[in-house]
Amino acid sequence: MFIGHYGPAVYDVLRTGKVKLWQAFLAVQAMDIVFCLLALFGIEGAASVVDGNLVFDIPWSHSLVSAIVIAFFVASIYRLTYRGNSGSMRGYWTMWLLAFSHWPLDWLVHRPDLPVYPGGEMMMGLSLWDFAWPTYGLEVLLLGGAIAFWLVKTKGPRWTAICAWLLVALLCAVQYFSVTKTTLNQQAGILDVTTLPSGVPFAVSGLAFYIFVANVIGWLENKRSYR
Ligand SMILES: [Zn+2]
Repeated sequence: MFIGHYGPAVYDVLRTGKVKLWQAFLAVQAMDIVFCLLALFGIEGAASVVDGNLVFDIPWSHSLVSAIVIAFFVASIYRLTYRGNSGSMRGYWTMWLLAFSHWPLDWLVHRPDLPVYPGGEMMMGLSLWDFAWPTYGLEVLLLGGAIAFWLVKTKGPRWTAICAWLLVALLCAVQYFSVTKTTLNQQAGILDVTTLPSGVPFAVSGLAFYIFVANVIGWLENKRSYR
C-alpha cells in the first residue's frame, strides 16, 4: 500500500495519546522509510517479476517480525523524545500501533513478497494490487477519509483545508503514476522492470517524499486547532 497508509494516521485525532498528525504520518510510513534507507545502500529495493508477479526485494524492512521491531523502535524514539509528556505511555502504544498498521495494509495489496522474518522462505501478500482500479479507489478512500475526518475534528482558516485537499490530490496523482499505471502496464505486458526507478535516486526521492508530506501536514496542523 502507498497513500492508503495515511488512513490510520488519524487514529489519535482525539488526542488520547497526544500524538501529532505529522508524527503519525511518519510512523505509518516507517517501514517504507526503513526500506528507502536500506535501498540507499543497495541492501533492498530491486523489483523483479516472479511467476508473472511484480515483487520487491524487501526482506529486512517488510517482514512480519521487522514490522513488530520497527514499531517498537518508532514508539521508543517517540517516548524518549517526548519524555514527561503526560500522555506518553498512551502515546508510546499509539505510535506502536500506527507504525505496525503498515504491515497488515501491505499484506492486503502486495504480491507475495512479505516474509515472516528476514530470510524466511514463505512469502505473504494477498495481491489486491492486481485489481488496479479498485485498489486505487481503496487507497484514495483511506487517505481522503482520513483527511476529511481530521478537518471535521479540527478548525482553522479555510485555506488550510484547501491546502489539505491539494495535498490529497497530489498524493492521488503520485499513487496513480507509481502504482496503478505500473500494474496496468504489467498486465498489458508492456512493463520493462529495468525502467522502474531504483537505487539511490529512488531511495532519495522516496525519503524526500515522506518528509515533504509530513512537513506539509505538520505546517497545516499548526494553523488548525482541535475542536
Ligand atoms: Zn510498505
